[in-house]
Amino acid sequence: MQMLNLKTLEEIECIRESALIVSKTLGMLAKEVKPGVTTLELDALAETFIRDHGAIPGFLGLYDFPNTLCMSPNAQVVHGIPNDTPLQEGDIISIDCGALKNDFYGDHAYTFAVGEISPEIQNLLKVTKDSLYEGIRAFKKNNRVGDVGYAIQQYCESYGYGVVRELVGHGIGRVMHEEPEMPNYGRRGRGKKFVDGMVVAIEPMINMGTHRIKHHKDGWTITTKDNLPSAHFEHNVALVQGKPELLSTFKYIHQALGIETDEEHEFKSQV
Ligand code: MG
Ligand code: MG
Repeated sequence: MQMLNLKTLEEIECIRESALIVSKTLGMLAKEVKPGVTTLELDALAETFIRDHGAIPGFLGLYDFPNTLCMSPNAQVVHGIPNDTPLQEGDIISIDCGALKNDFYGDHAYTFAVGEISPEIQNLLKVTKDSLYEGIRAFKKNNRVGDVGYAIQQYCESYGYGVVRELVGHGIGRVMHEEPEMPNYGRRGRGKKFVDGMVVAIEPMINMGTHRIKHHKDGWTITTKDNLPSAHFEHNVALVQGKPELLSTFKYIHQALGIETDEEHEFKSQV
């Protein structure tokens, strides 16, 4: 009954390999995100980079998605389609990327500032990223799905931000979106219990204003109902020896942007 899709250590290494290709892709893109560049140009760079690393773009053709990257600027939440509109100073852009190698997927996302952004939007990015780590910290032995959602929701709502309900994280492996669903809201002690071998994508989608969203006619693009900005950060995490272990990393992004941080240290491999 319980579809936990448990992975062996060998399978976890395969997911790590795909996730790290995504990490390096996002690190490469970090240097290219600037005013004047279009999301289609970034998409082309990413597709070439992923193929050069012996992988296949994980989103291209998935549910008929037309591109390599989901590019969601400003009020777009997720699933934005790359286009030829240049990014502008002060924008934010969520870049979500997948890669498939050796039959296993990696999938993660980062929201970048385009040039200088306002302090209010900087705070939205910081809180959303920090909430991702709050969620990962709760992904541990004997906790449950609701504990991760609770941790993310409590943290973000304490800043007055809206937690998107309709879009959730997920298990990941041979299939991009596996059970269990990993909502970014929830109640402590509810839902499936975590056990070693689970691999999940935790991905808070956090709005500056209302949690409500609207779907666009293209069938993909999703924006906030109040058109205020939305941020999105995503990691792939395995449960190993009762503790969360990051399979993806933002270190390539941090290196590219000159950010000094120790934020991933507590989720490093235990073995
Ligand atoms: Mg993703
Ligand atoms: Mg995902």
